[in-house]
Amino acid sequence: MTSDGLREDLIQLSREINADPELAYEEHRAVGRISALLERHGHTVERNLGGLATAFRARVGPPGPAVALLAEYDALPDVGHGCGHNLISMTIVGTFLTAAAKAKDLQVGIELVGTPAEENGGGKIDLLDKGVFKDTVAALFSHPGAGGQWSVSEKLLGIMVKRVTYEGLAAHAAVSPEKGRNALTALIGLFVAVDGWRQHLPSTARVHGIIREGGVASNIIPSRAVGDFGIRASDMDALKDMVATFEDMAAGAALQTGTTVKIEDEMRPYLPVEANPMLGDALAQMPLQARHCETIPEREMCEHPRRGPTIVEHNVALAHPLDQGTEALARGAVAPVVVLDHFRSASRNVLSVATFNAVAASESMTTNALSCA
Ligand SMILES: [Zn+2]
Repeated sequence: MTSDGLREDLIQLSREINADPELAYEEHRAVGRISALLERHGHTVERNLGGLATAFRARVGPPGPAVALLAEYDALPDVGHGCGHNLISMTIVGTFLTAAAKAKDLQVGIELVGTPAEENGGGKIDLLDKGVFKDTVAALFSHPGAGGQWSVSEKLLGIMVKRVTYEGLAAHAAVSPEKGRNALTALIGLFVAVDGWRQHLPSTARVHGIIREGGVASNIIPSRAVGDFGIRASDMDALKDMVATFEDMAAGAALQTGTTVKIEDEMRPYLPVEANPMLGDALAQMPLQARHCETIPEREMCEHPRRGPTIVEHNVALAHPLDQGTEALARGAVAPVVVLDHFRSASRNVLSVATFNAVAASESMTTNALSCA
């Protein structure tokens, strides 16, 4: 059970990170705060994990294969911690420290891996490429939601983000508009096309965009317009099909307006997530008496796909380790596994942390719920 002191430490950690947002790959102060808390509890923090300045790792239990607990702490431009990654840090650090209190009973290692740049860039992909997850048998993660309930084993949409740049011809909008070619008109045409496209997309697909550049003065025909579009689907084939259609529409808008178009990747693709049903089933069956909300195990594609690239990214890092985890669990090789979840209104900052022994099902489980008003 989480001690009152730890509870207060975790709440303070969450609030401090929330009040001091840092963007992707620049989360130095968040990492400093988490590391300080871990070191205060006697843990050694490995910095510069995989050569990333804001990635880190701490570990308990025996050497060899490990369950990875993934912490995030980056924020969004202008918005700050709109995605609640401060809550992710709080839960994951709390789970690690809860597991660490039982370190001598662990049959596999448990690692806390600090993963930067979830909102943009894909820090977990960097860490995967650097071999950080090569001994990972399972990876666990939590994310706050706004639904007031929690769920497990959600499938999550993959995303590609495309930057679309139209180039036209500037001209005075009153004196000689006929000499111009309006790049903004092309970009608006693409938005209209996307809106029409949506009615024919499956309910799990998503397309959403912003205008980054749309001209410099109202009396000048914009010669350049730039938009970013996120395209999401539940599997890679569908995602590729959607991107192909989107590129056709973008080209069509250029044709309509006499402009040219360039389409680039704005970030690395985040693949769709296939959650591990074994771990999810185990979690869903736990008697979490202290939980503040209902258990809703999800087995189908979620009706309300998550917003933001938030969770989708981690599939890239974790698809394979999760598969290994399934195998290991099937063989009974992985004994104590820490699982956690805290799907609850982020504004209420409620979370649950549970320690669970996957093999000795009869063993009692520890549930901690922290409520911060
Ligand atoms: Zn997020």
